[in-house]
Amino acid sequence: MAIAIGESKWEVEVPEKKLKDKLYFENLKAVVIDTELCSRCLTCVSICPSGLIVTEEDRVGFPDYEERCLDCGACVRVCPRFIYEPLSGLGDYIEIVATRSKRFTGQDGAMATEIIASAIDMGMIDQGLFVDRSEKWETSIFHVRDSEQFGIGTLGGTKYVFAGVLPALKEAVRFTKKGVGVVGTPCMISGIRKLQQEFPVFREKVKLVVGLFCTENFHYEDLMKFLRDEKEIEIEKILKTDISKGSMYITIEGKEKKRKIKMAEFEERGLVAKGCDFCTDFTAVQSDASVGSVGSEKGFSTVIVRNENAKEVMEYIREKGTVEFGEKVVMDEIDYLINFKKKREAHIKELALP
Ligand SMILES: Cc1cc2nc3c(=O)[nH]c(=O)nc-3n(C[C@H](O)[C@H](O)[C@H](O)COP(=O)(O)OP(=O)(O)OC[C@H]3O[C@@H](n4cnc5c(N)ncnc54)[C@H](O)[C@@H]3O)c2cc1C
Repeated sequence: MAIAIGESKWEVEVPEKKLKDKLYFENLKAVVIDTELCSRCLTCVSICPSGLIVTEEDRVGFPDYEERCLDCGACVRVCPRFIYEPLSGLGDYIEIVATRSKRFTGQDGAMATEIIASAIDMGMIDQGLFVDRSEKWETSIFHVRDSEQFGIGTLGGTKYVFAGVLPALKEAVRFTKKGVGVVGTPCMISGIRKLQQEFPVFREKVKLVVGLFCTENFHYEDLMKFLRDEKEIEIEKILKTDISKGSMYITIEGKEKKRKIKMAEFEERGLVAKGCDFCTDFTAVQSDASVGSVGSEKGFSTVIVRNENAKEVMEYIREKGTVEFGEKVVMDEIDYLINFKKKREAHIKELALP
């Protein structure tokens, strides 16, 4: 089976054995989707040659797959959870620093922005993929081509709802000349590594992979309905959402400045996305550099520089003097969340996988 991305074409080697004597998508459905193991990273959506794996009500699906699936096996080859090897810990690293950008504002120290902007400025990449949002906090992907575009106020900052980064990455690799930089949650980073393992175009064109620390995420409709109908928050007036120390803090425009909702309430209501319950990777160990909030003082990002690629960008940043460094990183805070997520291994074991 041949898969084409732009002008390039590859033969896909399908796994020799199917878990069931059925279509590959049916295998994916049985093992990952129906069990709710799916992290909604959308790696399968990004690679399906028929373009028919989609999201339906924010969940992965494939209408009429019985008739329309080409049975190429690409989806099971790239899904990080089909043959799931849970990752955990701090991973390999060269340095861990607390730092913040002097030129950009973001969720914390705007270091995700600074790293991608610097990689564009130094010519390592010619586009970076960022999750933008509408007034209603619906996500869309913005292909940043010039660091000045980071002036768009909604580009920085965390959106605690799923985003279609990987389908956009497939588009980006078609048109880039120098390479693409991408920022994503740990599940997305695992998806990118799978794509790179299986398809040369992703190895050649994805030049910088920045992972975010992550404990959980939400489906758009579930979260917004809860905030709007039960917490009586006007979505359009939300300026920022932040999860910290067991609560979500919502900054709202106008008189009522900040609302606090305990994470326990989201969990009790079943609002946290199911697939996150099986994720053990807090720091995105497979990224080139990880960025998070935990471990650094307010207004700074914790940055884990993992390899030579990311080191090159950090050296450029130091040389240009576009950031300032915090005093220290509190490793205990990071370890606490690493261990918190590691305990989710038990949930994976409880799954009755076919
Ligand atoms: C769902 C989620 C859960 C998180 N949980 C934690 C946590 O438990 N502990 C912790 O320390 N940090 C967590 N983070 C990371 C934290 O919120 C910040 O994103 C991180 O510290 C970088 O901040 P910054 O100021 O450097 O980023 P900025 O410079 O403001 O850039 C933000 C970056 O996040 C990306 N982004 C925003 N929303 C999404 C999304 N939905 N999916 C993928 N990418 C997105 C943007 O594209 C951008 O690249 C989480 C992030 C996300 C998206």
